[in-house]
Order: sequence, then structure tokens, then C-alpha cells
Amino acid sequence: MSHTQPPVASPLSRRRWLAWSGGMALGGVGLLAVPEVRLFAQQVQDFIAGPPVPDVAPQRLSKHVWMVYAKDGFPTAENQGFMANVVFVVTSAGVVVLDSGCSLQVGEMAIRMIRTVTQQPVVAIFNSHYHGDHWLGNHAFVNAYGAGLPIYALPHTIEQIAGAEGSMWRSMMERWTNQATLGTKVVVPNRPTAHGQDFRFGDVTLRIHHYGRAHTPSDLCVEVVEDRLTYVADIAMDNRIANMDDGSYRGTFKYYDALRAAAGDQLWVPGHGRASQTLLKDYGTFMAGIYEPCLKAVEAGEGIETAKAAVLKDPRVAPHAKTMAGFDSNIGKYVSLAYLEAEKEAF
Ligand SMILES: [Zn+2]
Repeated sequence: MSHTQPPVASPLSRRRWLAWSGGMALGGVGLLAVPEVRLFAQQVQDFIAGPPVPDVAPQRLSKHVWMVYAKDGFPTAENQGFMANVVFVVTSAGVVVLDSGCSLQVGEMAIRMIRTVTQQPVVAIFNSHYHGDHWLGNHAFVNAYGAGLPIYALPHTIEQIAGAEGSMWRSMMERWTNQATLGTKVVVPNRPTAHGQDFRFGDVTLRIHHYGRAHTPSDLCVEVVEDRLTYVADIAMDNRIANMDDGSYRGTFKYYDALRAAAGDQLWVPGHGRASQTLLKDYGTFMAGIYEPCLKAVEAGEGIETAKAAVLKDPRVAPHAKTMAGFDSNIGKYVSLAYLEAEKEAF
């Protein structure tokens, strides 16, 4: 994949403007106390947008489904926050987007890529959950297709995006990317959906699945019925350790069982990493390799350090230590979360 340098939008140095507006936001405390100055600084922030994200050609996963693949699992200045896949379904009634990207700029890139495979407009978006790498791209799609574009999510996800979680993700993404995502606005999903709902888009049926807390309390999975493909977003990942801060290990295992029982064999498509038929089995095995030693330790009255040592030695976990993105920085925390959850289960 060749990545071209993003074009420079204006001969006037963008960096100088950014430095100046950043200085206003961070350092100009005295000036910012003046309402007019504060308003002006906000307008400058809104006006300036980070540079375009380089094109990543979409890959076809099935008859109707394509993926713009994010090779990185975590946001950096270099990848401009492009850390989660954008999946889209080309139907005879238009394009349906499953997670819209990590920023305005990633969303804009996804729209360019959609236009390389179809002239159909985007007619709907589904946001899988409230983590910003999956919905901050909404902004680009309403810019291109209008504020009335239906954006579906579970009610709890909508609440979180509309609340503090939404603006937190927007500003964290700016910070993690050294402001490459600047200009991105929070665009809240405007249509609640629910487990069991079927949507007909021309020749394609989309079926909504939700079986309680897994990665978050509200993780939507979207089954593309005719293609035997299900977009599972972050309830399972390929070679990346998942954020479990709001999640549940036991909930994840239950979710997998219920989803497999309902949908049968599928091509499972994650929000991070590659799609496969064995994704749920593989990631479930890894998760069990964290959770089960913790449960054992709790039941034996052993402390968290013993549990952690057992997890690191577990054959379901150990092989991933060297290769899995985010393993070293996250495994300690996720063992703690598993241990706390095991304590609740055991007592
Ligand atoms: Zn997530």
C-alpha cells in the first residue's frame, strides 16, 4: 500500500495556526476569560481541520460487504487516528455503513473509498458502540449526505455519545493524534434500534443482535443475512487486546454463545483486525485464558499476583504476549478486571 503525502491545504502554515489556536486554548488563560476571545478561539478551532487521511483501498469480504482496513490498533499522530475498520454494505437501495471511522478525516476517506466501488449514496449508518474510534466519522457522512441521514445505535450508546463520553472521545482523539483529527464534531446517532430488529435495504437484510454486556453494556452486532457475515465490532478482536474497562468476561462468553446460536456459522468481522470464521472461537479462547485462571485463584483464596502469573503462563495467553498489539501495556489491568469479576462470581 503506497501512502502519498496529504496535500497542504493552504500556503499559510497550518502548523502556525494550530500552534496559535492551541496556545489560545491551553495557555491563554487570561485572554480566554474574555467571552469574545473565547468565542473567537472556538470559531478558529471549528474552522481549522486536520489534514486528509491517505486512501486505503477497500477490500471485498462478501457479495455485498466491503472493508476499509485499519492496520493499526491504536491512535498515533502518524496514523491520524485511523485505528478501526470501516465496513460498508452495498445494497440495491444504497450503501449502509457499519461504523463510520475515527474522525471527520477518516470518514471523508471512507466516503472516497465507497465511491470507488459504487455510485450509490450512503443511506444509513449503524454505530456499534460508544467508543469514538467507531463513530467520530459520522460527521463526514452527514456533511456529504445531509443531517437527516439515519444513524442507528442502541439507546444506551446514543445516551453515552450525547453525553460526556462523546466529547471525551472527541478531545482524546485530538490529543492522541497531535490534533490531526481537529475539526471533527460529535454527531449523535438519531435513530434508536434494538435487538431482533430486521432492516430491509433493497436486496439485503440486516439483523440486529445484542445479548447484554460484553465489551461495553451496549454492543450492537449487525448480521448481513444473505452473506452469512456478521459485523461484531469490538466484542472480538484479531491480534489486539480489547479495552475491557466497561466490559465483562462472563458477559462476553454468554454473548458469543447466544450470537452463535442465533446466527450460526458466519464470517465474523471485527472492528479491529481481520475477519475470519474462527474469530469468536479464537478470541474467546484468549479471553478464557485470562478469566479462568483468575477465577481459580479467587476460589483458592490466592491473591491477584498469583492470578497474574497463572494468566501469563496460560497456553491460551502466553503465545500472544509477543505479537498482540497493546498486550504489555494492558494485560495487568485486564487481569485485575478479570480478578474483580471472578470475585463477584465466586461470592
Ligand atoms: Zn471499543
